[in-house]
Amino acid sequence: MAPGTEPTDSKYRGLVDDMRGGVGWRDLRTPDARRADERDVEITDVRCVVVEGNFPWNLIAVETDAGEYGLGEAFPGPASEYVAFLRPGLVGENPFDVDRLVEHMTQLLSGLGGSLGYSQAAVSGIETALIDVVGKLTGLPAYQLMGGKYRDAVRIYCDCHAGDAPDADPREIYSPESYAAVAREVVDEGFDALKFDLDVRTEAADTATRRLSNDAVEHKVEVVRAVRDAIGSSPALGFDLHWNFSVETAERIARGVEDADLAWLEDPVPPENVDAHRAVTDSTSTPILAGENITRVEGFLPFLTEQAVDVIAPDLQKAGGLFEFRKIATVADAFDVPVAPHNISSPIGTMASVHACATVPNAFALEYHAREVDWWDDLHGRDEPLIRDGEIQVPEEPGLGIDLDPDVVREHAAPGESGLGLEE
Ligand code: MG
Repeated sequence: MAPGTEPTDSKYRGLVDDMRGGVGWRDLRTPDARRADERDVEITDVRCVVVEGNFPWNLIAVETDAGEYGLGEAFPGPASEYVAFLRPGLVGENPFDVDRLVEHMTQLLSGLGGSLGYSQAAVSGIETALIDVVGKLTGLPAYQLMGGKYRDAVRIYCDCHAGDAPDADPREIYSPESYAAVAREVVDEGFDALKFDLDVRTEAADTATRRLSNDAVEHKVEVVRAVRDAIGSSPALGFDLHWNFSVETAERIARGVEDADLAWLEDPVPPENVDAHRAVTDSTSTPILAGENITRVEGFLPFLTEQAVDVIAPDLQKAGGLFEFRKIATVADAFDVPVAPHNISSPIGTMASVHACATVPNAFALEYHAREVDWWDDLHGRDEPLIRDGEIQVPEEPGLGIDLDPDVVREHAAPGESGLGLEE
């Protein structure tokens, strides 16, 4: 199919045509004249299926006329509609031009907040699928396409949850002992890095103020101490506050847990304000982490230039894709800031993140958020679990080096969704 001729079965074809017309001076479609024979490959379809994991996993397939397809993943859920929007703008394009297609997609979505939110999530998932298919067509693993690797395995940190009796008194559910018990289990499973939510509600309070009583702060401090005592000083330990608190309450929590030598305290204050982050960071020796809601390198820049955080957590299924992650991590490294990527995805997004983390010096741990999803490993159809001894080996197979079991995808597809069509 020639560039510019889209399938007629997209409800977005007219809109995409309009976008092309509106941005005609900067034409990012495939330049015919630059096609060498061996690169004369075209995208023939882009599909997305939403699988119901513990979050909606938007699994994406990019098909080509060269007999290979690529897989990717976008987060969060409604990104699937943005993938559908982009499809008529991608069919006929050359998948080898990954960077140009990222800008082409971002430009097509410019009226929908192109570099932000669901737009950039869809771009991220498609970008990953492009890298996967280019890897398969060239015989190179994804990490090699990104410049080679610093490590053969990527350390995985396990996101954990304590408390499993929703009708009981919150102080009993979220007791320091319950956290400590889960922490011991996770370390026994082989992880040497873990994280818990610390923003659970344990008292009647006017939550709109974002302020906590001294008692409530002390409860959080006791939880952190109990977990650290249970696992010893060696494992990397983080706690997540999910943007819930005022600067003064965040500072009291961060200072209160300094003795626990955390790897990080995550998202203590609302995500938008760089100065508020810097105030918390400057007030404590506890490292402050943020960034799972930020897209593209330009979003991270003020947090780095203002030294507002100690660790950043870009989400590769949201922030712009694997190459964009490399830009973010590279700039962070220039400011001596390490990276612990956010990841709540299926094995596809997780393995994509593993490849990218292998290619930068400063990625020290990658999140795994599906401990309670007992079919997570069934999705990739390998005999062995992906995570062993708290890490994932970087694959040497072409592309991402991971596939999907179409039966498991169909079994867990959201209502109204079918498979990815890979089995045909
Ligand atoms: Mg978080």
